[in-house]
Amino acid sequence: MAMHRRDFLKLSALAGLSVSGCGALRETTSSQNLNARVVIVGGGIGGVTAAKYLRRFAPNLQVTLIEPSTEYVTCPVSNWVIGGTRDIKSITQKYDALRTRHGAKVVHDLVTQIDVEAKVVTTKSGAKFNYDRLIASPGIEMKWDSIEGYNEAASEIVPHAWKAGAQTLLLRKQLEEMKDGGVVMIAVPANPFRCPPGPYERASLIANYLKQYKPKSKLIILDAKDNFSKQPLFIQGWKDLYGYDTPNSLIKWVPASEDGKVTAVDVKRKTLRTEFASHQADVLNVIPPQQAGLIARQTGLTNESGWCPVDAVTWESKIHPNVHVIGDASIAGKMPKSAFSANSQAKACAAAVVSLLQGDDPAASKYMNTCYSLLSPKYGISVAMVYQINDDGVIDEIAGAGGVSPATGNKQLEATFAENWYDNIMADIFA
Ligand SMILES: Cc1cc2nc3c(=O)[nH]c(=O)nc-3n(C[C@H](O)[C@H](O)[C@H](O)COP(=O)(O)OP(=O)(O)OC[C@H]3O[C@@H](n4cnc5c(N)ncnc54)[C@H](O)[C@@H]3O)c2cc1C
Repeated sequence: MAMHRRDFLKLSALAGLSVSGCGALRETTSSQNLNARVVIVGGGIGGVTAAKYLRRFAPNLQVTLIEPSTEYVTCPVSNWVIGGTRDIKSITQKYDALRTRHGAKVVHDLVTQIDVEAKVVTTKSGAKFNYDRLIASPGIEMKWDSIEGYNEAASEIVPHAWKAGAQTLLLRKQLEEMKDGGVVMIAVPANPFRCPPGPYERASLIANYLKQYKPKSKLIILDAKDNFSKQPLFIQGWKDLYGYDTPNSLIKWVPASEDGKVTAVDVKRKTLRTEFASHQADVLNVIPPQQAGLIARQTGLTNESGWCPVDAVTWESKIHPNVHVIGDASIAGKMPKSAFSANSQAKACAAAVVSLLQGDDPAASKYMNTCYSLLSPKYGISVAMVYQINDDGVIDEIAGAGGVSPATGNKQLEATFAENWYDNIMADIFA
C-alpha cells in the first residue's frame, strides 16, 4: 500500500522518539525532489542529529552544518573520564560519516551573525551561507560573573568541565595531582542547567577514584538547590558505596537551605564563599549558572530567561520565523537539557522542517528522555520519561509513562545499560 509523504513524516516524527531503541528511520522516496537549503549552526548532539535525519528524510536537501571544532568531545561519559575509568579518545566523535555517508556539507568555522531578515549566515572567516530554514543547536554559555570572581579566565585555573574537552582533562589532572587527604569541592547551580543529574554523577565517580587511590580525602558538594534529580537513588548509592551519612563519609552534600549556595570564588586561594562561610579546597570544580549559546542571544532568539522560546511541534523560534532552535538552548517545557532530549528534538525538528518546506502541516511528536548515571563503574541508576504537548502547547510529562530505576534493582545491569546507551546514541548521531 502506498504511503503518503505526509503520513510518512508523521510516522518519522513518532519514530524519532525512540532514538536508540528503534533505529528504524529510513530514507524516504517521497521527499526526493526537495532541494531547499537548510543551514545548521552547531555540530553537537542536536545539530548533527538534525543534519543526518534531514538528509535521510529528504536526500536532495542541501544541508550545511557549521561548527568550529573538527572533532566533538561528548559531555555524556565525560564524568567517567574525570573519574579515571575512560580516556578522552573514547568520547571523541568525528564528522566523517555525516559528510561521506549522509551527504551533508560540514564547514568548520564559527557563525558570527545570523541575518534573519535576509536569511544569511556569516562566519568568522567571512563566508556567507543563504538558507531557506535554519536550525540552531548552539548549546550553552556560562553566565560568567554570576558568581563573583568566576569568569572565563578563572575557569582556566578552576575548571567547570561543563563543556567537554580541555576542561575535562584539566579537572582530571588536578585530581591526579591532589594529595591523599585533600578536599575536592563542587559548586552546583540552581535549575535550569545542562544535565540535571550530571554534578552528582561527577561527585560519585570522583569519590570512587578517591576511595581507591586517595582514601583520606573528602568530596563536598555545595548546592544552590535543596533537591536534585534522582536524589533518593543517589543518596542510597552513596550510602552503599561511600559511607554517606556516617562520620567517615567520603561525600558531603550541602543544600541551599544549609548555606550551600556559592556566591564567590577565589581561584588563587582555592576558596569558595557562601552567604555565611568560607570553604577551603584542594581541587575546586565550579559549575556556574548557564544560558543559551552566545549566537542565540546575539541573534535575539532568547527571551528574558536567557533561553529560546520555540514552538513545541516544529521547534521554530517564537521570535524569528524560519529559524528553529533545539537542544539545550531551547525552552522545552518539562524536558531536561540532555543529549537524549536534544537527539529526540532534532529528529522531530528535521521532520517538521521537511514538512514546512513542502508546504505540509507538521505532525506533533511525542518525545522521550532517559538519563543514566554511574555512581561507580558497576553501579548505575536511571530516570526515564515520555512527553507530549499539552493543550497550552507546552511539552509536559505523560503521567505514569516513566520513572526512576527501582531502588532494589540490579545496579550492575543499569551500569551496562548506561554504556550501551552511550554506544547506541553515538552510533545514531555520528555513524
Ligand atoms: C558532565 C556532563 C555529563 C552529561 N551526561 C549526559 C548523559 O549521560 N546523558 C545525556 O542525555 N546528556 C548528558 N549531558 C548533557 C548533554 O551533553 C547536552 O544536553 C547536549 O550536549 C546538548 O546538545 P546541544 O546540541 O544542545 O549542545 P552541544 O552538544 O553542546 O552542541 C553545541 C555545539 O554548537 C557549537 N556552537 C556554538 N556556537 C556556535 C557558533 N556560533 N557557530 C558554530 N557552532 C557553534 C559548539 O561548538 C558545539 O559543538 C551531560 C552534560 C554534561 C556537562
